[in-house]
Amino acid sequence: MMEITFTCPECGSGIHVTPSLEANIANCDICEHKLPVKFNEDHVNSNIKDCPCCERKDFYQQKDFNRKLGVLLFVIAAILSIWTYGISFIVLYIFDLVLYKLLGNVVVCYKCNTLFRNVNNISEIPPFDHEMNDRIVYSDHDFEGKPLTH
Ligand SMILES: [Zn+2]
Ligand SMILES: [Zn+2]
Repeated sequence: MMEITFTCPECGSGIHVTPSLEANIANCDICEHKLPVKFNEDHVNSNIKDCPCCERKDFYQQKDFNRKLGVLLFVIAAILSIWTYGISFIVLYIFDLVLYKLLGNVVVCYKCNTLFRNVNNISEIPPFDHEMNDRIVYSDHDFEGKPLTH
């Protein structure tokens, strides 16, 4: 089953939901904001074609990597390197490679930053594109799911 994490527009907290056709509101546990959502058959079947939050069709995929964890590991390696003459950095590098392989990919909505995990049609989702992101976020351009062409 697909897992969706909305970003609360009021307080910025993550709102975790699983799609269901009966649900049309996602509740924020932190500030009790009610977020209108639109689920369809695709979502219930773990396919992502329209965003249930902003109804856009522009998504990218990225590694489900926790940035904070990455920074923490780097700091630990940096401290340990004083005693290990830098070997901890090599260990971290290998650990990073292994971790990177193990991690799944998430799909992200450019417009509203909603996260989708366990997506079936992830192979159809392109990687992050800076130009698309700038145009969607800053100029409110709607690509309607079509990749950027020049
Ligand atoms: Zn909230
Ligand atoms: Zn969206």
